[in-house]
Amino acid sequence: MSLLEVKNLQVRVEEREILHGLSLTVNPGEVHAIMGPNGSGKSTLSHVIAGKPGYEVTGGEILFKGEDLLEMAPDVRAAKGVFLAFQYPVEIPGVATMNFLRTALNAQRKARGESEFSTPDFLKKVREVAASLNIPQDMLRRGVNVGFSGGEKKRNEILQMALFQPSLCILDEMDSGLDIDALRVAADGVNALRSPDRAMVVITHYQRLLNYIVPDFVHVMSKGRVVKSGGKELALELEASGYAQFEDAA
Ligand code: ADP
Ligand code: MG
Ligand code: MG
Repeated sequence: MSLLEVKNLQVRVEEREILHGLSLTVNPGEVHAIMGPNGSGKSTLSHVIAGKPGYEVTGGEILFKGEDLLEMAPDVRAAKGVFLAFQYPVEIPGVATMNFLRTALNAQRKARGESEFSTPDFLKKVREVAASLNIPQDMLRRGVNVGFSGGEKKRNEILQMALFQPSLCILDEMDSGLDIDALRVAADGVNALRSPDRAMVVITHYQRLLNYIVPDFVHVMSKGRVVKSGGKELALELEASGYAQFEDAA
């Protein structure tokens, strides 16, 4: 069974159709890159999969582990193993990052019928993962994403991913706003989470990220559809030829 099956998905935002019949199949262990120009609907797709409000699905379906994902509340999706690292991570003033992580992690474990982490186990795990991502301890005491730099926000998303151990990770433009060193740290963190039973969907506008996170498949989106799919070489072709060639195809 595929991990994720998006079939002929049609989505509207404020009366306007943004996705016009998008299909995508992702199997466990695979890394898929979704590329495309600004405004092609990449974030919309990721938001609909995660269950962000404000989107109206007018056609098609999304199956996750064979179940109807669109019927599930966002927290149920997360507990079942869907994780989205947002292009623009939200700030939560007044909630220390450490407390946020513990609450979210234990809520997910509870929903899955697993026991909560004890405080020492949790602290040990967070410190270990944070160190591997160059996340300083004082950052974990600050409000979630409050005053974090672009790179710190992205690393905080990867820290969540490493703790939650989702089966599907969607990374929406994690390269935006990162310098090359920050990009390497983030990509190393993502690569460390690659595993035969976890899939990743890496959304990016630029080919550069895919030098660090090498995908198995590349899909090109244009105007709300996947207009071309191929192997990792497709990203290099795009780097050379640009997206304009797909404008007519869409
Ligand atoms: P991408 O991530 O590929 O840059 P988006 O999914 O963000 O594309 O946007 C796709 C299209 O949907 C754009 O034309 C954008 O203006 C429109 N759109 C996205 N979100 C909204 C919204 N909340 N309200 C109105 N239009 C939106
Ligand atoms: Mg965009
Ligand atoms: Mg986007």
